[in-house]
Amino acid sequence: MEVKTSLLDNMIGVGDMVLLEPLSEDSFLENLKNRFDHNEIYTYIGSVVISMNPYRSLPIYTPDKVEEYRNRNFYELSPHIYALADEAYRSLRDQDKDQCILITGESGAGKTEASKLVMSYVAAVCGKGQEVNKVKEQLLQSNPVLEAFGNAKTVRNDNSSRFGKYMDIEFDFKGDPLGGVISNYLLEKSRVVKQPRGERNFHIFYQLLSGASDDTLSNISISIFKMNAMQIVGFMEDEVQSVLELVAAVLKLGNIEFKPESRCNGTDESRIKDKNDLKEMCELLGIEQSVLERAFSYRTVEAKMEKVSTTLNVAQAYYARDALAKNLYSRLFSWLVTRINESIKVSNAQAKTRHKVMGVLDIYGFEIFEDNSFEQFIINYCNEKLQQIFIELTLREEQEEYVREKIAITRWFYISVFNMLYACTYTISHECLRPGTVTDETFLDKLNTVCAEHQHFESRLSKNSKFLTDHSLPHSCFRIQHYAGKVLYRVEGFVDKNNDLLYRDLSQAMYKANHSLIKQLFPEGNPAKVNLKRPPTAGFQFRASVGTLMRNLQTKNPNYIRCIKPNDKKASHIFTESLVRHQVRYLGLMENVRVRRAGYAFRQAYEPCLERYKMLCKRTWPHWRGPAREGVEVLMADLQVPAEEFSYGRSKIFIRNPRTLFFLEERRRQ
Ligand code: ATP
Ligand code: MG
Repeated sequence: MEVKTSLLDNMIGVGDMVLLEPLSEDSFLENLKNRFDHNEIYTYIGSVVISMNPYRSLPIYTPDKVEEYRNRNFYELSPHIYALADEAYRSLRDQDKDQCILITGESGAGKTEASKLVMSYVAAVCGKGQEVNKVKEQLLQSNPVLEAFGNAKTVRNDNSSRFGKYMDIEFDFKGDPLGGVISNYLLEKSRVVKQPRGERNFHIFYQLLSGASDDTLSNISISIFKMNAMQIVGFMEDEVQSVLELVAAVLKLGNIEFKPESRCNGTDESRIKDKNDLKEMCELLGIEQSVLERAFSYRTVEAKMEKVSTTLNVAQAYYARDALAKNLYSRLFSWLVTRINESIKVSNAQAKTRHKVMGVLDIYGFEIFEDNSFEQFIINYCNEKLQQIFIELTLREEQEEYVREKIAITRWFYISVFNMLYACTYTISHECLRPGTVTDETFLDKLNTVCAEHQHFESRLSKNSKFLTDHSLPHSCFRIQHYAGKVLYRVEGFVDKNNDLLYRDLSQAMYKANHSLIKQLFPEGNPAKVNLKRPPTAGFQFRASVGTLMRNLQTKNPNYIRCIKPNDKKASHIFTESLVRHQVRYLGLMENVRVRRAGYAFRQAYEPCLERYKMLCKRTWPHWRGPAREGVEVLMADLQVPAEEFSYGRSKIFIRNPRTLFFLEERRRQ
């Protein structure tokens, strides 16, 4: 039998960048372009998959393709995301190793699509049966539900994820799925009240309105319910109704406007312009109108057992309204995740047995805008951590494979990553905790001081400074050298977004609602449970949850998909070289190839290696009787491949230089 190594046969360009000769950034790009032009959107760097967004549907995800890649070795067929999914699934099932699929790339590069392809592949190849099929359907259908509420059209992506998502899929010892757990990371809730030009609010608002025409809300809920995803995931009809009432309430809230009314002491107090808007919202949520009206007029501060109420001016009333809309929506989103988790969780009986886990991470991509604020800082911080873990884990993985295979390594290096971001996030999560005293300006001062100290210390270790101060820096800004580029952050609004303040009067009004879901979302509004302690800041919570995520990822075997966006036009067939070059640089793909080549560029298990090359030697052709490893040893000796060019591992041969492989291939063709 002929063992195909399609990385070498009938290949457009080179399927594995590790085998690229000569290796340079230009040849790397040329190879990507060549393959992209021929609809080959996947290319390997060893076991890492590079995925170019084709911006059109390609016929490469059919059930036949699934069959083709099923149970095949990673390098046997041409590069495909299915090969990675298959490899990950099989090592989970057969070798009992928990896996994680880490998908990175900028906004619009194809991460979410990639995560869905991996999930659907695994669903197609794992066990079958009524129960298992139900679990699979629920896991898959959680995607459209969360996308409806957490994705939006942006200038970069018509379906941009505005939240981070990590999903653990749990399997039993046979490799059948049992259920899963989703973790969500900071939804970009500012979008609820304000969208940048050319962008939209979250999809669900439009889905709701497009169904709304002349019907009542209950009809809409039924039509959305019939749309199936929520039903499959396990939402009851009345739950769907409640969820949609809350979405409608956010819309109505946006209609409420305020006007100033002058007081005799010369100050302005805010009044609601049109009480009809207020009425509609109150009816929807079962809140007494006077209660909400009062909550939009006063702010009560409790200190030392004393309550002090002050009236709100128009600006404060708008601030309160927007804070309520953002909180309502983001809490609803978190509730949805919790509710989905309830549906998809592993049943108690099964929970006791040992599980195998595959984690899939799809987090918002790195963002650089003209104006970058708290949201971008959070998003980029997370990407920075992921990049760091990528570097650490790829090195570790290489090292471990050598140890496992008992290959001695001589050339080794360590890339140290300097993390200035730690200082920034520390300041962000701690500085904002002091209420009243911190403004954006004092925050920036503090940030400058902390980072300067950090820099001073670090500069002895590393020449690269990541916190950039220079005289060209605009007022109220700080700049960070991220791995993906320099980003200028404007501090305006940082402290506020981080504190995410919702006046207690409003949470208490929400708690009084005759609507069980909304009551549930504002537990702090319960007067019996007045808690004077401030909740942790958004930055603090985020930093903690990213920390937990990173620790979780480190316990698993990583599989990487590095997504690349070919152009800025959301268009097919266009390969904008400068744009791709930039991504190749900041994703560190060249370094990735070099690390892989620094040791042994190519490795192959003894059996397929012998099958492929046994024709080159009389003693191994047509049959070799004996262990495959010995056959390969005979082969290499016979072909006089210099000993320093390869090493014998326990199960694989390691070839140092791609040239040796080309030499073998050349001989095969003769
Ligand atoms: P964000 O960070 O904004 O969430 P993303 O990396 O998740 O971006 P996707 O939403 O996955 O990007 O992809 C953007 C669009 O590109 C998709 O809506 C789809 O139209 C197209 N696309 C991505 N991958 C593929 C693919 N493999 N085949 C066809 N089209 C694709
Ligand atoms: Mg996405």
